[in-house]
Amino acid sequence: MSTLDLDAFSRMPTAAETEPPGAFPDDPESLPAGSVVDGATIVGTEEQEFDFVVVGSGAAGGVAAHVLADAGLRVAIVEEGAWFRTRQFQLSVQPAFKALYRDAGGFVIQGRTFIPLLQGVCVGGGTTVNSAIAWRLPDDVYADWGARFGLENVLNERNLGPCFEDLERTLNVHPVEEEILGRNNTLMRDGMVALGIRPHVIDRYARGCRGSARCAQGCPNGAKLSTALTYVPWALKKGARLFTQAKVQHVIVSGGRAKGVVAATAGKGTLRLRATRGVVVAASTVQTPNLLRRSGLKSKAIGQNFMAHPGVGLGAFYGDDVSSNRGVTQAMETIHFRRTHRFKLESIALAPELAAVRIPGFGANLVRRLADFRRLAIWGVQVRAYATGKVDSFAGADRVRYTLGPEDVRIAKKGLRTLAEIAFATGAREVMPGIHGLPETLTSPDQLGLIDQAPDDPRHYMFIATHLFGAARMGPDRGTSAVGLDFATHEVERLFVVDSSVFPSNIGVNPQHAIMAVAMLAARGIAARA
Ligand SMILES: Cc1cc2nc3c(=O)[nH]c(=O)nc-3n(C[C@H](O)[C@H](O)[C@H](O)COP(=O)(O)OP(=O)(O)OC[C@H]3O[C@@H](n4cnc5c(N)ncnc54)[C@H](O)[C@@H]3O)c2cc1C
Ligand code: SF4
Repeated sequence: MSTLDLDAFSRMPTAAETEPPGAFPDDPESLPAGSVVDGATIVGTEEQEFDFVVVGSGAAGGVAAHVLADAGLRVAIVEEGAWFRTRQFQLSVQPAFKALYRDAGGFVIQGRTFIPLLQGVCVGGGTTVNSAIAWRLPDDVYADWGARFGLENVLNERNLGPCFEDLERTLNVHPVEEEILGRNNTLMRDGMVALGIRPHVIDRYARGCRGSARCAQGCPNGAKLSTALTYVPWALKKGARLFTQAKVQHVIVSGGRAKGVVAATAGKGTLRLRATRGVVVAASTVQTPNLLRRSGLKSKAIGQNFMAHPGVGLGAFYGDDVSSNRGVTQAMETIHFRRTHRFKLESIALAPELAAVRIPGFGANLVRRLADFRRLAIWGVQVRAYATGKVDSFAGADRVRYTLGPEDVRIAKKGLRTLAEIAFATGAREVMPGIHGLPETLTSPDQLGLIDQAPDDPRHYMFIATHLFGAARMGPDRGTSAVGLDFATHEVERLFVVDSSVFPSNIGVNPQHAIMAVAMLAARGIAARA
């Protein structure tokens, strides 16, 4: 097969096309009347009072809001993005990115090279656009955070274990079923087995997944259990109110205490929400530290120690169809190298428009490769990078400065080489290492040494970042951390931070599960004290 049959990518029937109205938890009819206020409708100044205001409706904010509402507290959730519902999700990448991603996916980390940094800006945040991979916090991370950052009495297995269990039960975390794995995933498994690498079928938050490989555009089947389908609607059913398209400008601080927030709405109005018991910030690693700064906090730790898991990808053409559009977006992985080499390997099906950016060549060569898209397998390396960076703002816009060191690039190279070995072990004809300066494709295992010899300079690689940590780290010491062991900032009482800004380091596995568990633990403590 050598035609670019894009129809094949669009014609899997979705649940959004077949389910009756009101069948998804995010259908307006499924939600309590008046529980969602669209900021586009707020044109003047509106004031309301709650016990808690939660900023952000993603992994951390969704869970925290539900815990607080479930405790009988009056909760407002303020979300910068709009609520795109299951029935509105698009197959096509461009409108999906415009609707769901910050800067339509165009935000970049600045450093020795530009690195695209993807974040959801919509109800559900990253959980709406991600692949729903669930990983508990590894033991060595608990140990490290205790030994180096003094977190042993808070972020430990005893406290977080029950939160993980709760999340796993509630969000139906389970390994992807064999029948919806798809060949992009099984090829990777076969190659790993051939090379003696331990494969792992990915555990995901999903129910009724059809393996339509389009998680990044939002799940049209309501199968991926994002916070937009779970904790946010559940919080609304417990009496919370959600304000969408309302960007919190600053936290109102008076007498050393957080008293509410001021948000700018899409209707060009102003939303002033009083919070009699506190403000919970869950705006994510880039936006949380900048919101704290805009609210007048001065701690030197705010914006420092940003960390990430930059990823690089590798494509491999086979002699027959891989059909990466059939199967779960990401279903195969290995942590075989996590401790020894600081990388994790994952399969990842990309839409043709996204993959095309990474397919090398021009003219007839490029056209031939695009036409062979169905024979393409794509996998990635997540690097647990040593590099640290800074988050701040420039001319009113968020800015992240971060440069990968040679040691981080060497980790990525080792990961790419391993993926290339996996590809050749399963009969790939051409492997695209995606490294500037190397041949566009490698056609024999004899060429693998070229990857080892590639420069240790990040400018030669196409990194992308989706896992973000730090920049408002937790710790007992006011001099080196922004947030105390009770999740309140050192500077302002009742101003809580519950997202991965508080993580003192990256973790080497996908972060959503750890972020949700930490937010759950934090919110339970906040609710108990309230
Ligand atoms: C494409 C992609 C795939 C990924 N795949 C996985 C995966 O499979 N597994 C995994 O573990 N992790 C994955 N991640 C990472 C994971 O989604 C994030 O780590 C997680 O969502 C972060 O949670 P959070 O609550 O800190 O932030 P988010 O989920 O990003 O939520 C923050 C929310 O706050 C809102 N907000 C920000 N500023 C303001 C403001 N001033 N006022 C009001 N609202 C504001 C944002 O719009 C956003 O909705 C992926 C991420 C991406 C982008
Ligand atoms: S692969 Fe992703 S988009 Fe497709 S049904 Fe499963 S969760 Fe939904």
